[in-house]
Amino acid sequence: MEKRELLYEGKAKRLYLTDDANLVISEFKDDLTAFNGEKKSSEAGKGALNNKISTELFKLLEANGIPTHFVKMLDDNHMLHTKVDVILIEVIVRNIATGSLSRNLGIEDGKVLPFTLVEFDYKDDDLGDPKLNDQHCLILELVDHQDELDKLRRMARQVNDILKPYFKEKGLNLVDFKLEFGKDSNGNIILIDEISPDNCRFWDIKSGEKMDKDRFRQGLGGLTVAYEQVLNRILGK
Ligand code: 5GP
Repeated sequence: MEKRELLYEGKAKRLYLTDDANLVISEFKDDLTAFNGEKKSSEAGKGALNNKISTELFKLLEANGIPTHFVKMLDDNHMLHTKVDVILIEVIVRNIATGSLSRNLGIEDGKVLPFTLVEFDYKDDDLGDPKLNDQHCLILELVDHQDELDKLRRMARQVNDILKPYFKEKGLNLVDFKLEFGKDSNGNIILIDEISPDNCRFWDIKSGEKMDKDRFRQGLGGLTVAYEQVLNRILGK
């Protein structure tokens, strides 16, 4: 597989075309950003850890019937995946209140929610990723039909139903996470992007320690050590 020209550079990844029109390569960067790009840093090895964690989780989800863009991990920092039209909706799934949910609605940090909450954010940095309801999504033509929004919610809940018990067994609470979706060349909705401690919150069940990007957001230090622990638990080490 030949890596060709740069198609797009995001905050955490670079996307390259390949010699196959249906396939692209993501390069996972060591860069870290938070608060809509206002806080920036870099941690050597972070990109490779996220690539490896995402690879394992995409394989797990595929094995449990969730269609994803994952094809294969090429090397430490590169993943080969299907090219899609990105749906500009960030699907946020929450099991425990924290972060913007606690900030915006005053729900106690750490409160276990009575049911899994699924929210939509507009994937638009200039606007600061504002909350969307279904009517906003349709007016903005982010999807073609209400059915597609229902499908995003259904798939997000299925992902949670797979990942939550999986991480519980590994001693981690899956607090919340962000998913992205796209449409492949046949118009099918598939899971894309990455699933890593950059876009999931993991709390150690015993110690309550944060094992995710909140270590950077909150200046706690020890980010790559925590990400490595998440990978090791996934690999059963
Ligand atoms: P919150 O809305 O509380 O900031 O984030 C909820 C969850 O979604 C967290 O796990 C967070 O990591 C993830 N998330 C929300 N928005 C973004 C985003 O723009 N980028 C990344 N990497 N994760 C996000």
